[in-house]
Amino acid sequence: MRYFSLAALAAVSLAAAWPSCAGATKSSSVAQSQNTPAPTATRVHDTIPMIVFDSPYEQRAQVYRGQLHAHTTNSDGTQSPAAVMTAYRAAGYDFVAITDHNVHTSDPKVSGVLFIPGVENDHGCQHENRIDVGSIAPGARVSQDVIDRARSEGSFVQINHPDWPGSYPKNPCWSDKALLALHDYDAVEVWNASDDDTNNNAEIRIDTLLSEGRRTFLTAVDDCHDVRAAYCMTSSVYVFANALSKSEVMTGLRQGNFYASSGALISEILVDRGVITVTVPTPSQIEFIANCGRVVKNAPNVLGANYAANGSEKTIRMRVTAPNRRRAWTNPLYVVTKQTQ
Ligand SMILES: [Zn+2]
Ligand SMILES: [Zn+2]
Repeated sequence: MRYFSLAALAAVSLAAAWPSCAGATKSSSVAQSQNTPAPTATRVHDTIPMIVFDSPYEQRAQVYRGQLHAHTTNSDGTQSPAAVMTAYRAAGYDFVAITDHNVHTSDPKVSGVLFIPGVENDHGCQHENRIDVGSIAPGARVSQDVIDRARSEGSFVQINHPDWPGSYPKNPCWSDKALLALHDYDAVEVWNASDDDTNNNAEIRIDTLLSEGRRTFLTAVDDCHDVRAAYCMTSSVYVFANALSKSEVMTGLRQGNFYASSGALISEILVDRGVITVTVPTPSQIEFIANCGRVVKNAPNVLGANYAANGSEKTIRMRVTAPNRRRAWTNPLYVVTKQTQ
């Protein structure tokens, strides 16, 4: 039920707030047909437009489950770094980024689970995670400075819980204007399990970014502060990679070859030019979502679904909802038109 209200809210509020979303649902197919010249027998040398997806997804041998946001006693967490790594290993996670507040936590060297160093930089309510970080926190007071520092170090950087401590559109930490002003980050948390139920889903914020031409990946995280809490060990990123090593996992993250999950699973994401096929291990709802949060295809209770781009979309992202209401979110695919002869 919540999904429908969110989608409807996104369509209404974005159309009002952002000119690029105005009229998106009614005019796109008409505009496409008007802008596409009719083929004629005499124009044999004309190029033919072909719609393809610019996709981050490539097939790899394995998929690895990871946590990109967790705290220890080095900041405001309850357990030691070793205890946190051990708990995540027991829950089936393959890798964990410890992201203490403004502190670089060292590898506690727990066997059987890959440690990735991280830092959560916080300044006021604006927090960013630097993953695969090589240094102590920069102490920056401006988010773009943190992002620029992460970029210069080759770290993966995500914008954390963009609505906390308020709830969008009422008093979110990040206004749409502030989020749109940022650049060169990798991801935004689409799901932060530690947040309360009113603002842990940031899909509307991400759809706004995509509709305004920004590019971002989507991550789902626990933001775990106590491994005994019910919200810990629920959310993950699943990275497609050939081996469980820091270099392989980070390559997958930086490329966007992963999906976010609050518990639902995706078996495969195949992209063949302008057609996306998603398969899942248990019958689930699979939705294809275009710019402005438009659901352009809704396949309920299926093991797989596909979607062919028609050229009216800027982006397509997929959302899977399992029968238990847990979800998975893919990264966006960008629609481009290639000219071929
Ligand atoms: Zn935070
Ligand atoms: Zn945190």
